[in-house]
Amino acid sequence: MANSILSGKVLQNEAAAIAWVEARVWPEGPVCPHCGNCNGDKIGKLTGKTARPGLRKCYECRKQFTVKVGTVFEDSHVPMHLWLQAIYLLCSSKKGISSNQLSRTLGVTLKTAWFMSHRIREAMRFVGVAPMGGGGEVVESDETYIGRREGVGRPRAGSYHKNVVLTLVERGGSARSFHLDGQAISDIMPIVKANVAKDSRMNTDEGPHYNDLKKEFLEHKTVNHKADEYAWHTGDYVDGKPYVVTTNTVEGYYSIFKRGMKGVYQHCKEKHLHRYLAEFDFRYSNRIRLGVDDVERTERAVKGIVGKRLTYRTSHI
Ligand SMILES: [Zn+2]
Repeated sequence: MANSILSGKVLQNEAAAIAWVEARVWPEGPVCPHCGNCNGDKIGKLTGKTARPGLRKCYECRKQFTVKVGTVFEDSHVPMHLWLQAIYLLCSSKKGISSNQLSRTLGVTLKTAWFMSHRIREAMRFVGVAPMGGGGEVVESDETYIGRREGVGRPRAGSYHKNVVLTLVERGGSARSFHLDGQAISDIMPIVKANVAKDSRMNTDEGPHYNDLKKEFLEHKTVNHKADEYAWHTGDYVDGKPYVVTTNTVEGYYSIFKRGMKGVYQHCKEKHLHRYLAEFDFRYSNRIRLGVDDVERTERAVKGIVGKRLTYRTSHI
């Protein structure tokens, strides 16, 4: 990163911001979202005084478009450079950034800030089928309880009234989290099987819902938290490093997640929980230790804006 992106033109100047996003969404040149035409000779740039910045016209289907069409930015009147400022802030703040803070920093209304941050979370959402682990790598799985489920009465002792989150973390790699519908522990095995390669070493606690992992994966080893056991050495090596059985990595993920949810996102509704999880997964999976700095993380989030526009049908922003 040569210069601070915050002082850069891309975050301050609308034309520069649009060009920057275009270069990431259309690395091979513009594509008409209406008919799929990607022949640059048949796409014109409308530059008249009344034309919106970045407006193009397709000479195949005669329709107009900008890079926002078909992305989470569609239907939004927020200028692109403000979108990029918001994305950069969400990407570079380890525990996230509240809509209140975003609203003050960007000078937009709280409502606009709220919709922007939810759309950015949508851009951050992992889509893909590539399994985690594989090749004997270690994948940790664990659950945590957070917030309050709706419609289950007053909070009471235990975890009955809370939401259950399942998280898979590939040691030295990415994280994927899932909000389990109504505490359905029976959902855990199908999710683990669908997301983790068979030739992985699974590390979990001794929860009975993990009993079948042994049959499905290269290996399943546990730590016995009830006996205050948090890590034990197997005597083997994985990737040249001593193989330690533990769920400390996924617990480290939860500690960041919970500090963020407590400090920054106090009023997260149950129906939005999966979006916050996507945000924390994204930052974790694109962290500095994996060689991803704030700018690169921002770029990756921008690449995720495509094809996710249908989540919020709103014209408020
Ligand atoms: Zn077209």
